[in-house]
Amino acid sequence: MTPTPRPGSGPGVHRRPVPLPIDLATPEPIPEDGIRAAVALMESGALFRYSENAPTDSPVAAWESEFAAWAERTYAVAVNSCGAALYLALHCQGVEPGQDVLLNSWTLAPVPGAVAHVGARPVFVETTADLTIDLDHLRDLAAAHPGCVLLLSHMRGHIADMTQVVEICHQHGLRLVEDCAHSLGGGWDGQATGTFGAVGCFSTQTYKHLNSGEGGILTTDDEEIAARAILASGSYRLHAQHSSRPDLSRFDPFLGGEPNHSMRLSAMAAAVLRPQLPRLPDRVRRWRALYDRLSAGLEGVPSLRLPRRDEREAFVGSSLQFFLPGLEAETINRFCEVADELGVHVKWFGAPRPSGFTSSYRSWSYASGPVLPQTDALLAGLCDLRIPLALDEPACGHIVEIIRYALEHAARNPAPLAKTDEERTA
Ligand SMILES: *Cc1c(COP(=O)(O)O)cnc(C)c1O
Repeated sequence: MTPTPRPGSGPGVHRRPVPLPIDLATPEPIPEDGIRAAVALMESGALFRYSENAPTDSPVAAWESEFAAWAERTYAVAVNSCGAALYLALHCQGVEPGQDVLLNSWTLAPVPGAVAHVGARPVFVETTADLTIDLDHLRDLAAAHPGCVLLLSHMRGHIADMTQVVEICHQHGLRLVEDCAHSLGGGWDGQATGTFGAVGCFSTQTYKHLNSGEGGILTTDDEEIAARAILASGSYRLHAQHSSRPDLSRFDPFLGGEPNHSMRLSAMAAAVLRPQLPRLPDRVRRWRALYDRLSAGLEGVPSLRLPRRDEREAFVGSSLQFFLPGLEAETINRFCEVADELGVHVKWFGAPRPSGFTSSYRSWSYASGPVLPQTDALLAGLCDLRIPLALDEPACGHIVEIIRYALEHAARNPAPLAKTDEERTA
């Protein structure tokens, strides 16, 4: 079917592409061996990781040992989400209600959520034009908050200059926790993310790099953090059933004093995760190829800017961010609508109200703080695209074509924004 020419279309204007036939939110299927392990586990009924009589052969214990080895850390503690891991990372380092925790301003809601969970106060650090933490602002805030925790999100897989981050932390006695929800398999200058600070936190939620529906895991070399995290995750005095753990004597000082927060990982989740880990390097390679293909295509689209990526940054291209600098909000709004109609769901961080996995530090009213002009300017034009492994090269070309068309169309037909709640009640 030939599309009818639309008013306003003319020479030099691209034709409306056909919709993308692939849903960008398509997850990777669970590998066959994971399905078999899950079925066997269901037949046994033993979906809980602990039992009074069981030795250390729960799939969760095995998963922790395998993950710790993979992540090059001494201990791993599996929990039911990355948000829970972030909470435990703060709690087990003694972060107390009312204390300040530094975090990057461009992050996802569960990160300030974990800070609020321990009753601490999020203090946001500015974000650079290339979507990493602003090191100058970090230096200033670190000097003003010596000895606090820096909860650093490698948000959407953007990895800051970790050599400098670590240096700043040392200088001001900051304790570093890395949120690696989108950087599992990535690193900086040859060193894996999650190994730069005291604790690394990872997510195995469906849209991250390993998929158990829900799940998280904390890694550390610190015996006290590991012991406390195991107890606090809810081990019912069955902590001996962990195979990735410090010596049992290290638990003694915390028995009884450490509350049980019931954040355990289900054995089902561990069963489907274990066979995915050896496949991760292949997934990382495929994501990177798709990212490179898409970004090469988008380079040629006028009015769009891609963040610059440092050659020391080994990122996993499971999503792609781009900026539409200089475009009015109404134009970006229409762009998102048209792209959506054509099957390319673009998340816009500058929308008046956050929706589906976008957020702005301004929308977390419990975390009141100063206005961050640099972050505001960035978020206004920041767009985000999932890269499912179900894509292939032609699909990447198709997405570029849809984005190019949607931008051209929106420039001619901007769409008014829905009113925010404040504007409606004003
Ligand atoms: C997804 C995500 C989290 C939280 O992971 P959950 O497992 O859903 O709790 C934290 N930080 C970032 C940057 C994320 O993308």
